[in-house]
Amino acid sequence: MSKAVVVFSGGQDSTTCLIQALQQFDEVHGITFDYGQRHRQEIEIAKELGSKLKLASHKVMDVTLLNELAISALTRDSIPVSNELMENGLPNTFVPGRNILFLTLAGIYAYQLGADTVITGVCETDFSGYPDCRNDFVKAMQNALEQGMDKKLTISTPLMWLDKAETWALADKLQSLDLIRHETLTCYNGIKGDGCGTCPACLLRKRGLEDYLNNKDTVQAQLAEKSC
Ligand code: ZN
Repeated sequence: MSKAVVVFSGGQDSTTCLIQALQQFDEVHGITFDYGQRHRQEIEIAKELGSKLKLASHKVMDVTLLNELAISALTRDSIPVSNELMENGLPNTFVPGRNILFLTLAGIYAYQLGADTVITGVCETDFSGYPDCRNDFVKAMQNALEQGMDKKLTISTPLMWLDKAETWALADKLQSLDLIRHETLTCYNGIKGDGCGTCPACLLRKRGLEDYLNNKDTVQAQLAEKSC
């Protein structure tokens, strides 16, 4: 029996991965992290979606220790989300170590469940400038987990080379465009669906959706070429 663990935030990307995984694996388990994030409404959204989509299990893990250590606009309500980059070239929503911690915990959970795949919705193409969304990082994490637990593990990244328009095309192909558009939460200000429309996460999501809806045939063909 094939089993996968999906790192699931309740946002557009991870929900798309989750729905795809449900079609590809016999058993799909979700794991959601509570790190005291600014947009903590996403945890409730993830719980609702997890039960609606009938996951084999859905674990919500308290990792508020990350909030204490990692200072970012996503972990401090006192730091406003900026559309400008910081001096080091990263957005101020970057949470250092977040995906290192999440993939480590998801890998441990997969080990316990006997699952050989961990799925994450990270993406290098439209990656918001986060270094822990790059392919090289994911490959290094996979290697570290395999070495450290002496077990075969694949970290699968179905969206790695897709842009946001292609991710919407994938949602449509999975017959879930409306569900993902209206029932997920990507907005840093915690507003479901189309969101606040002005934060960096909303802008990226909105531009991708407009691009997809205006050029459906072209974007679907691009997606097919990337064999998704
Ligand atoms: Zn927003």
